[in-house]
Amino acid sequence: MIAAPLKATSTGRETTVAHDTALAADTPPPAPMGERHGPLRNGNRRGDPNSAPRCAARTRAGTACRSPAMVNGRCRMHGGASTGARTAAGRAVLSRAAWKHGCLSAATRAHHEAVRRTREDLETLVAAVAARLVSERRNRKAARK
Ligand SMILES: [Zn+2]
Repeated sequence: MIAAPLKATSTGRETTVAHDTALAADTPPPAPMGERHGPLRNGNRRGDPNSAPRCAARTRAGTACRSPAMVNGRCRMHGGASTGARTAAGRAVLSRAAWKHGCLSAATRAHHEAVRRTREDLETLVAAVAARLVSERRNRKAARK
């Protein structure tokens, strides 16, 4: 038996060439350096990073950063803080993620306000009925004399 030639892979393990060609049948061969296929991540432009505009963020040493800048003018380390969700759907996701118990939500506060108003109305009604009963009893007492 002739052993199949071994080939080192990026994972460090060795695989046979026969197995490797079976994998390579449906995946395109890797492009040479500088001719990569597919878009870059995060909307970054293609090109030579050495000739890219420079990041001007101030470092702790007081100098400019000088790393290749992205479209926003800052490098990957100095992109800046998030400006938050832009769409209504994104803001809804954030709102739902920050939801703790809903005790202070607008709906719960409106419900509590309605309950308080109803209780005040009922207390006013009970006080009026009680005053009327006392007044009628007083009138009946006065009529008996
Ligand atoms: Zn930077």
